[in-house]
Amino acid sequence: MDIRNIAIIAHVDHGKTTLVDRILHTTKVFRENQDTGELIMDSNDLERERGITIFSKNAAVEYKGVKINVIDTPGHADFGGEVERVLKMADGVILLVDAFEGPMPQTRFVLQKALQLNLKPIVVINKVDKPNCRPDEVHDAVFELFFNLDATEEQLDFPTYYGSGKNGWFNDSLTQSEDIMPLMDGILKHVPPPVVSEGSLQLQITSLDYSSFLGRIAIGKVSRGTIKEGQPISLMQTDGVKKSRVRELYVFEGMGKKKVQEVVAGDLCAVVGLEDFNIGDTIADFENPEALPVISVDEPTMNMQ
Ligand code: GDP
Repeated sequence: MDIRNIAIIAHVDHGKTTLVDRILHTTKVFRENQDTGELIMDSNDLERERGITIFSKNAAVEYKGVKINVIDTPGHADFGGEVERVLKMADGVILLVDAFEGPMPQTRFVLQKALQLNLKPIVVINKVDKPNCRPDEVHDAVFELFFNLDATEEQLDFPTYYGSGKNGWFNDSLTQSEDIMPLMDGILKHVPPPVVSEGSLQLQITSLDYSSFLGRIAIGKVSRGTIKEGQPISLMQTDGVKKSRVRELYVFEGMGKKKVQEVVAGDLCAVVGLEDFNIGDTIADFENPEALPVISVDEPTMNMQ
């Protein structure tokens, strides 16, 4: 399965929600089992059925046979390194900037995190339909921001798309196009597939959900091996290793989550059934666990138990 994991980063109100919405409506919902006739449930259905509370608004779509996971990033001030953690799941980022306002404080903050993680951003200058917008100036301001944040040569050579999420078009020039497909092609072209290494299971927990019915839910990217429903695993924590078991597994689909039997390396998933985990822990092989480097967390992780 061909996968791209991308995060959209932006200052609040620059149009992230509108863009994600547009992506969801112009592409297909990724369905792994096209023939099973399974009902696709969105977050609200799941919530009703299982009392689930979904915090992360990750989405997944299919474009030209590729599954694109769109990772939700907080648009507000960062709490406890949240932005950095979720960006660890991404192999590429879209930096969305309002063509009138230009880069703002949160643009700078999230861009800095992305650059430090060696991600190579795609710049999208949005809202070019607005009267008095200044896309060329904003492009130059974005370039200057990259430069000031010590971007590498490769990062400075970012592709730029212009358009309007609201009016439903993006292009690699200021010429209006039909739809958002040049941007979708840009994602396939500029975002590398996830790097997966050979070996037994490794999944670092990068964010969490909570459900009154299912308890705490661990979210992360499978970086090695395959995770399966019912599988006994080792949970590797800073102070030792705990044995646990995967009770249920979900992948992202459209705006919702879908229960699956297994998830392969490169994909993102939600793991249910681990009793006592923290962000930064590694889910690893039961017999021969190997941990991934710990992610630093500035503040205590959310505890909803
Ligand atoms: P978010 O805070 O980044 O998720 O931003 P939203 O997607 O909620 O958009 C913020 C506001 O900008 C809303 O009023 C949108 O309708 C508006 N908006 C989003 N995209 C565009 C666009 O391309 N052009 C114009 N003119 N307005 C837009």
